[in-house]
Amino acid sequence: MKIHEYQARQLLQDASIAVPPSRMVQTVAEAHAAASEILAGGAKLLVVKAQVHAGGRGKAGFVKVLKTADEARSAAEFMLGNRMVSPQTPPEGLEVKRLLVAEAVDIAKEYYLAITLDRAKRTNTLIASAEGGVEIEHVAETRPDAIIRQPLDPVSGLAPFQARAVGMKLGLTGKPLAQAVDLMMRMAALLTKTDASMVEVNPLVLTPPDAANPEGRIVAVDAKFNFDDNALFRQKAIAAMFDPTEENPAELRAQEFGLSYVALDGTIGCLVNGAGLAMSTMDIIKLEGGEPANFLDVGGSATEEAVSEAFRIILSDSRVKGVLVNIFGGIMQCDRIARAIVGAAKSVGFKVPLVVRLEGTNVAEARRILDAAKGELPTMQAAGDLGDAARRIVAATKA
Ligand code: GDP
Ligand code: MG
Repeated sequence: MKIHEYQARQLLQDASIAVPPSRMVQTVAEAHAAASEILAGGAKLLVVKAQVHAGGRGKAGFVKVLKTADEARSAAEFMLGNRMVSPQTPPEGLEVKRLLVAEAVDIAKEYYLAITLDRAKRTNTLIASAEGGVEIEHVAETRPDAIIRQPLDPVSGLAPFQARAVGMKLGLTGKPLAQAVDLMMRMAALLTKTDASMVEVNPLVLTPPDAANPEGRIVAVDAKFNFDDNALFRQKAIAAMFDPTEENPAELRAQEFGLSYVALDGTIGCLVNGAGLAMSTMDIIKLEGGEPANFLDVGGSATEEAVSEAFRIILSDSRVKGVLVNIFGGIMQCDRIARAIVGAAKSVGFKVPLVVRLEGTNVAEARRILDAAKGELPTMQAAGDLGDAARRIVAATKA
């Protein structure tokens, strides 16, 4: 589960990590009022930031540093009135419904800091770079040596001496080094406490020296969290931060019925049982020159109602030009799928080609049900095996 930056900042602040003051707003008028208030509190610079579950906002023009409440109003008008498109959003972009208005800090240097699971090492790893900011992906790709990695002990977590070594490799000294070490330790503790699978601060900022901080100071100005969905049952406060409006509506509907569904950009809707079979079905569709419109695993124990819902979800996607059903009945009984196909034909109708490949438990009964409903399923073809099924659906959707 992902959360918004304004929620992430709250988590950091609750863990005593330095974050500039900010307010989350949902209208242009609120943005203007929040900006006036933050300026009245003594801020000289402001930043207005789109709150969406995707990064790359800076480059997309959805993070604006400015000086006056009127400028904040124009920035809010722009962000709430335009969809944000970045390499991390779908091609059509995301609607922006919330903004963060924050006191902006002056930046002497931007660092990157994150803790996430390193699957190869099988442990959480602190990742840091002295070249943080909006180009971090490019830095990681072209100059991997600029990325510092410090594995965490699975039991004791991050040790202060490790955080200190990382801080020194970042080139920090004096008070800012001590502040960065403190921040890394708190970040590591927060990751464990909240069952997060990732926490990222980019940029972590070193401010220029001023009278109060002659060496500058360390502040977090952006934060991202990912949480382990399987731990949400014991993380009620985190679960309560869930924003359903940031999720794909079809994926949410599927979740309610216990289906694993991920929307993709292709044209061939897939209904499969088992994640492995769903992956290989997508592969073989691609091998035959088609593009899957979704990943959908109905699982083994889905009811006829859930399977019918799965068909409704697939058929309500206007990009779907054909549907491939691939079931290897073990726990899932083929006749249940057949009944759901007939049900979907009656309630929604298959206007697009349908290719069905069924094997396994109760397959004879399933074939009988489908044969008897041929009149209602004029676009249906039965396939012999998976390769045949993929060839048929790709041919049918290209015709
Ligand atoms: P992201 O692009 O979605 O990761 O959004 P960020 O919050 O990281 O902002 C992108 C960039 O905007 C940062 O790398 C900074 O260069 C700039 N920025 C963000 N907040 C501030 C701020 O408080 N002060 C200044 N001067 N620049 C900021
Ligand atoms: Mg960032």
